[in-house]
Amino acid sequence: MNAIEIIETKRDGGALSSAQIDWFVQAYTAGDVPDYQAAALAMAIFLRGMSVAETIALTEAMARSGDQLDLHDVVPFTVDKHSSGGVGDKTTLVVQPLVAACGLPVGKMSGRGLGASGGTLDKMSAIRGWTGDLSLAQFKRQLAEIGLVLAGQTAQLAPADGKLYALRDVTGTVASIPLIASSIMSKKLAGGADAIVLDVKLGNGAFVPDVATARRLAELMVAIGRGAGRKTVALLADMNQPLGHAVGNGLEVQEAIAALRGGGPTDFWEHCLAVAALMLRLAGRASSERAAVDSLAAARESGAALKKFRQMVAAQGGDVTQIDRPETLPRASLVETVGAPRAGTIAGIDAGAVGHACVRLGGGRQQKGDPIDVAVGLVIPVKVGDRLDAGAPLFTVHANEASRLTDARREVLEAITWADGPVDPLPRFYGQVGEVA
Ligand code: URA
Repeated sequence: MNAIEIIETKRDGGALSSAQIDWFVQAYTAGDVPDYQAAALAMAIFLRGMSVAETIALTEAMARSGDQLDLHDVVPFTVDKHSSGGVGDKTTLVVQPLVAACGLPVGKMSGRGLGASGGTLDKMSAIRGWTGDLSLAQFKRQLAEIGLVLAGQTAQLAPADGKLYALRDVTGTVASIPLIASSIMSKKLAGGADAIVLDVKLGNGAFVPDVATARRLAELMVAIGRGAGRKTVALLADMNQPLGHAVGNGLEVQEAIAALRGGGPTDFWEHCLAVAALMLRLAGRASSERAAVDSLAAARESGAALKKFRQMVAAQGGDVTQIDRPETLPRASLVETVGAPRAGTIAGIDAGAVGHACVRLGGGRQQKGDPIDVAVGLVIPVKVGDRLDAGAPLFTVHANEASRLTDARREVLEAITWADGPVDPLPRFYGQVGEVA
């Protein structure tokens, strides 16, 4: 086979065979196809699209490009969740221990932030000593011992996606439905989960803008998961404003601990409950949404979920005194609360702009490999539809440099739009794809 022929076929709108896709992916992983040819194919796919059959072939080829985990020697059934990326999305930190506290093992590989969208590994790095760098043997041992693991993706798992993703990030080819679906699902299939809940975000802070596109992405990923024998469902979740209040790594860890302790923002807790309830139901651990929510609420009230989180942090080298006293997590030197510039109703909060403001504060990377500042970020306690008086607290900036604080203040003020009259609150969800049974 030959890379040029494959690129030309897709460039001209043709369909690729499974054999062609498999050859290209394996040759790219091995370094026999260079980045510039993979970039040309990614752009051809971006512009021409892929059929469902081609997308499944791409997913399976990327899943096969490295190790494929089988966790059944340590636990009979595992469940995983994956968010397609958002701003203020610390869901994993709460959902994982909640579900594990209900007796269902959760082994998860997470990623770093990407553009305006945060990453679980970056958030957890706010906890002193914690590492997501685990060997497969450690991953399995911890899953068996405490039923909860949160690891970074290893170079052995879906390495083709690792390479292709980095390339897409710098060639304008991220926002493609078949490329996003195959990227996410190749990692999920290789990760060995028996059941997968997909948290597909849509809106101004997500990779897909609207309900119709998010539904297409969700349907494709559910079809891929089910086709590979995994129980898979997807929630379509709003990302037209940040989730919860905190945006920024250490601040989000604090908010997640508050939620595990019974506090925290309502929208965030309700989001976590919906995702976690689906995980329990997919695994057959709850017969209805009500029963699942009751078990999860009990796991929070009894302190069992917080204890699980603490156990995971300890097992992965983290300083648990920071979980007991979250105020000891890294703190920024400059903290300023900004008041509402006018009286009125919040009509919109551009979550993508808020995410970018956090990146520019130092909370995310402008370039691959940049160090991040885990202490900085924003706390925005208002939601679309809230009515405020002029001067009422609107948001707080946590910065370590005065000029960055000034920029973030301006950017977030510009990201918030106002109305004089009432504005409906935003829905949390826009539907579900795939049934539990
Ligand atoms: N998350 C991924 O893992 N891959 C994508 O392409 C987009 C979001």
